Amino acid sequence: MNRDEPWYDMAQVCLNGHLITALAQTNPRLRKKICPVCGEPTLTECFICSAPIRGHYHGWQAAGLGPTQPPAYCHECGTPYPWTQRTIKTAQERIKIHKTRRLVPRETGKPSAL
Ligand SMILES: [Zn+2]
Ligand SMILES: [Zn+2]
Repeated sequence: MNRDEPWYDMAQVCLNGHLITALAQTNPRLRKKICPVCGEPTLTECFICSAPIRGHYHGWQAAGLGPTQPPAYCHECGTPYPWTQRTIKTAQERIKIHKTRRLVPRETGKPSAL
């Protein structure tokens, strides 16, 4: 790889979307097998096409420590990463709970004695 060109480092992210490090390629010592926040396994590449998860952008200008949020989708195949799928699922469950709660008063509002 030509290090004179801008390139993306590899990010390591747990299944819940906690960013372990955005410098997994240049600084492998920062890698962790298990997330210290939630205890979930971590990954550094797409589980579908094995493209590395994009981390810190090594551009022409020094850009600090890189992103604090992992990408939501694989930049190669567009597959939502596990943390994205979980977020979608959680959102759907919240909507479901919300709907159920709204239905309860209607059910109990029916006359029970005839
Ligand atoms: Zn985590
Ligand atoms: Zn992919």
